[in-house]
Amino acid sequence: MTDATALSGAYRTLLDVIGKVEPRICQAIRDELTDQRASLKLIASENYASLPVLATMGTWLSDKYAEGTIGHRFYAGCQNVDVVESVAAEHARELFGAEYAYAQPHSGIDANLTAYWAILAHHIETPALTEFGSRNVSELSEADWETLRARFGSQRLLGMSLDAGGHLTHGFRPNVSGKMFHQRSYGTNPTTGLLDYDALAAQAAEFKPLVIVAGYSAYPRRIDFAKMREIADSVGAVLMVDMAHFAGLVAGKVFTGNENPVPFAQVVTTTTHKSLRGPRGGLVLATKDYAGDVDRGCPMVLGGPLSHIMAAKAVALAEARTEAFRDYAHRVVDNARALAEGLLKRGGTLVTGGTDNHIVLLDVSSFGLTGRQAESALLDSGIVTNRNSVPNDPNGAWYTSGIRLGTPALTSRGFTTSDMDEVAAMITDVLKKTTPTTTKDGKPGKAKYELAQEVADGSKDRAAKLLDLHPLYPGLTL
Ligand code: PLP
Repeated sequence: MTDATALSGAYRTLLDVIGKVEPRICQAIRDELTDQRASLKLIASENYASLPVLATMGTWLSDKYAEGTIGHRFYAGCQNVDVVESVAAEHARELFGAEYAYAQPHSGIDANLTAYWAILAHHIETPALTEFGSRNVSELSEADWETLRARFGSQRLLGMSLDAGGHLTHGFRPNVSGKMFHQRSYGTNPTTGLLDYDALAAQAAEFKPLVIVAGYSAYPRRIDFAKMREIADSVGAVLMVDMAHFAGLVAGKVFTGNENPVPFAQVVTTTTHKSLRGPRGGLVLATKDYAGDVDRGCPMVLGGPLSHIMAAKAVALAEARTEAFRDYAHRVVDNARALAEGLLKRGGTLVTGGTDNHIVLLDVSSFGLTGRQAESALLDSGIVTNRNSVPNDPNGAWYTSGIRLGTPALTSRGFTTSDMDEVAAMITDVLKKTTPTTTKDGKPGKAKYELAQEVADGSKDRAAKLLDLHPLYPGLTL
């Protein structure tokens, strides 16, 4: 990461300026750095963006409205935003080898929504719109839309189930993706926990979806995207891959060949802030065929682009094209493997028996705990994780039976495989000494537990030793 010493003075001045307007916000910014520095962050979806990325976001690019596309804006004076968006898209295309890149989505959810609308627009235009003539979607009247809205009900989407590791935006009811489409989900093999391509092919043949979504938030293995495309082609479906979690591993050339979704999917979406280590935001990559439809993200489903964030995406993507980033991405996976091995050798049970990406899914029922109890006990002990369902979770999505662990953030701090073994030891020590307790009326309390203070304190001391070895933004003094 960039040497931060030179930026310390600039940040101190900035914080003083902010503090004069609203001291509570200045304090919250300072406190967040203190907390981030002091926590053993194993949240698989988080990372630490570089100071150049962070600094790029805090600029006057934020003040410009630029609805539209590069060179075709609904506002005057967008020449600098055009540069910003072009550079971000160019880096994204070249880094991922994509035919087309759209840098406007404000988040991963927005990227997926943009992609779904693009796929619908692309496919409804021809043959379903024959009665509307050969008009473009943007030319349809209100009455045409009324007809189309009814039509959307007959479109189908097949995505990975939540408890197998899929995401809410892959067709689940609380998200609009589950309302735009008739949805079904595919799971994993009940014995191995692995994706079952034959079962998926059979399900696709029976369901005949317009879209098959591949990608995950909590699946600790790689996906064969050549097989996924074969399955999609066999039923005439579009393959959309949401690589929000593993984009950094694709960028860093850990996932190559069949494990790289870009050559196989018609549309690929991602966040930019997880393993890719950029600002919070989204991206859509697509084949040329879909480019025109994706380009309508704004104003179709997005507001004006966030120019300062697109600029930070460009900086992060430029960083991701370096040898240093490739080395980082490989270390993320080495660290996840070391964490998994450390947990297994100390009696932990892992979904799928291990990992070959950045995620480790620990089934805490073997410690007699729910995910909620384990998450809280670990937090008391200085270890930040999040509870997560395991396949067919008996405790549901709120209490869960699992803990999701990820290595992108700690690897950014410089943690090594032997540090990850110590982290595994700390996790198992805490969980073995955590006891579930009952509620006042004697029922099993799925959130209640006991953990001796000295165990939690001992773990915090061990965490502090590791964190001191690998300071966050070394040289940055506020
Ligand atoms: N897609 C996947 C696979 C995710 O894991 C997430 C976030 O956790 C998202 C999309 C949504 O990203 P965002 O929070 O940026 O909207």
